Amino acid sequence: MKQNIFDLAVLGGAPAFAEPLHVGRPNIGDRARLLERINHILDERWLTNAGPYVQELETRVAQRIGVKHCVAMCNATIALEIAIRALGMTGEVIVPSFTFVATAHALQWQHITPVFCDIDPDTLTLDPRRVEELLTPRTTGIIGVHLWGRACDTDALENIARRHNLRVLYDAAHAFASSHRGKMIGNFGDAEVFSFHATKFFNTFEGGAVVTNNDDLAAKMRLMKNFGFAGYDNVVYVGTNGKMSEVSAAMGLTGLEALDEFIAINYAHYQQYNEELDDVRGVRVLPYDAGERANYQYVVLDIDAEKTGVTRDQLLEILWAENVRARRYFYPGVHRMEPYRSLYPMTHRWLPVTEKMVERVLVLPTGTAVSGDDIRTICHLLRVVIEQPSEFARAWNERPHAPTALSVTVQ
Ligand SMILES: *Cc1c(COP(=O)(O)O)cnc(C)c1O
Repeated sequence: MKQNIFDLAVLGGAPAFAEPLHVGRPNIGDRARLLERINHILDERWLTNAGPYVQELETRVAQRIGVKHCVAMCNATIALEIAIRALGMTGEVIVPSFTFVATAHALQWQHITPVFCDIDPDTLTLDPRRVEELLTPRTTGIIGVHLWGRACDTDALENIARRHNLRVLYDAAHAFASSHRGKMIGNFGDAEVFSFHATKFFNTFEGGAVVTNNDDLAAKMRLMKNFGFAGYDNVVYVGTNGKMSEVSAAMGLTGLEALDEFIAINYAHYQQYNEELDDVRGVRVLPYDAGERANYQYVVLDIDAEKTGVTRDQLLEILWAENVRARRYFYPGVHRMEPYRSLYPMTHRWLPVTEKMVERVLVLPTGTAVSGDDIRTICHLLRVVIEQPSEFARAWNERPHAPTALSVTVQ
């Protein structure tokens, strides 16, 4: 274990890890079972179009969540677009800026204005008080994001929606298998969207789903994701192609069988990070509510640079040099990405909490591809720097290398 500042890779030492450690390295279930299912798909030559595995996945997901309908789709972005359209959202829709860009793009893509709203400093989800201030006669809906699996204030948002006749959709991309107030996420608002992308807790390679307890909405979305086909040669609706393929569903069914194992590993990692970083000045691991179910997929640090003496971006550089691909989420905020930055250049003025948090959060690797030893090393590296900030500052200012992590573009 490194003790000396000059052993750090960013200051010329050898990296602590020979291979890069990623955030969101895919969780994969039983390989033999997956290949068996894929062989079955090839034998049957039923590759897509509501095949048996997609149907089984929809049933199992709906059972797990305790929701009436699950409509599987090719990814969560298309699922959001379809849900937005099926709900009849138009004009303006309130969304957080502190989210993955797809939440806003799904609106902008269909000429609906995403109105960026600030977040609550404790939950980092939409602040209902700020939502109320942004409503106009053109507002038709609210899209809350259950960020990192932590639920929005659903009661307050749905109360606003009722009073103003708005639709409520949740981007639950991070929240599969999580609960809120004792109820599984997937049962809130008019509908909720999960992502089953490779980097998410539970994956189908690419994939997603809309879940809802509304029969008419589910029927409409089933038509929309299949070009509007109600039967052979019978198109009754404008639609797109949002279908999930059979191999994706096979991956999903296999992953579902290992879901509790994934959660147990994530939980153990989350606990270990908490224990090892407990006494590190200025570093807080964002907590999960112990009274709720969670998938523990995101280990998020809140870095208070005044206490650590080292900025979040310096910590990012330090970890990348060691081959730990920690991430800044959702830097610099969707409102500072195009086309929103050019269209609405003043937005940052009413997003003070978002503006602050994009400078503070650091997401660390976890999941089935990371070991307890890896986590011990990562935490030790953070400790070495934060325990000797002035030595580090001096060495940093004299270091020969140019920054690397910040100039690399990754999704
Ligand atoms: C990953 C993600 C999406 C998009 O999911 P895809 O399945 O990759 O399209 C949308 N919203 C949030 C918050 C996400 O993290």
